[in-house]
Amino acid sequence: MSRFWSPIVQTLTPYVPGEQPKIANLIKLNTNENPYGPSPRVLEAIAAESSDALRLYPDPNSDRLKQTIAHYHGIEPNEIFVGNGSDEVLAHTFMALLKHDKPLLHPDISYSFYPVYCGLYGVENKLVPLDSAMRINPADYNQDCGAIIIANPNAPTGIALTAAEVETLVQAHPDKVVVIDEAYIDFGGETVIPLIKRYPNLLVIQTLSKSRSLAGLRIGFAAGHPDLIEGLERVKNSFNSYPLDRIAIAAGVAAYEDETYFQRTVQAVIDTRTNLVAGLTLLGFEVLPSATNFVFARHPRHDAAKLATDLRAKAILVRHFKQARIDQYLRISIGTDEQCEALVNALQALIAA
Ligand SMILES: *Cc1c(COP(=O)(O)O)cnc(C)c1O
Repeated sequence: MSRFWSPIVQTLTPYVPGEQPKIANLIKLNTNENPYGPSPRVLEAIAAESSDALRLYPDPNSDRLKQTIAHYHGIEPNEIFVGNGSDEVLAHTFMALLKHDKPLLHPDISYSFYPVYCGLYGVENKLVPLDSAMRINPADYNQDCGAIIIANPNAPTGIALTAAEVETLVQAHPDKVVVIDEAYIDFGGETVIPLIKRYPNLLVIQTLSKSRSLAGLRIGFAAGHPDLIEGLERVKNSFNSYPLDRIAIAAGVAAYEDETYFQRTVQAVIDTRTNLVAGLTLLGFEVLPSATNFVFARHPRHDAAKLATDLRAKAILVRHFKQARIDQYLRISIGTDEQCEALVNALQALIAA
């Protein structure tokens, strides 16, 4: 606390990201980064952009990137908004579209940045509990509200709704904005981006951090009706004219131009996930069905916080949340086959001990 802070700052509870420690030979399975690097085409584009041109400001509208993403998804550039990571896109969404007289609904267990943005922007929120199977039930959202946001697949559970289930939710609230955060959609979910043509209240947010291996570059986007996009542009242009730098724009475009690399690395993550789930299940873990690049698992006889601490002592990082309902779970990002094998071996030793 400082007497120099604006009053709102005294009230904030900031988001705490997974740690990025500087430990040698660390097996880092705690922040859902992709174990494979970005496409070589992306690295070439970054090298080409690293030139004298950096003295110039980037395109404030990131038009090339919007055109590329719009073309990839079969929609129009004016249906795309881009930002410095989907976290920034989410932040602008909370300010531009989710602050109303009635509360914003979101799951009780979900991306923990949502309540943080509510605090920052003064958005009243109401938590909707996941059901006993840790699933989002769209019918539970049939209540008076100002807007709705869910992650699909949800985090940190990893469980996905079908596109038809998401459509039911969007249909049931024609006069409210429904935001679907699809950060993990490429690892096993069905995107609802095509539905934006039919539902002017639907905003879909994606990131290049996970399935396109660009967490270090910070690129995210939203897809929706041009009126929703214009609301986001108004906030963005009142905040930062140039959220994406020249290198990010060039790299983002290149990431969509290498579909083969994208498909191959996403499939490798999915295959490793299948093996990891089998390995954890053999050790007695209960693993929720994952459509993401992480699994959420608990062991009926071993405390999750202790397992996380003991793994850390073996230079393996996983994520543990000290939160009601999920404090007996570990969230484990899918690494390479070798990393996941090392994790299973380490857990086997801990459980046997
Ligand atoms: C990782 C993640 C994001 C943020 O991604 P960035 O684009 O890296 O900011 C947003 N939503 C969910 C659910 C995530 O897990």
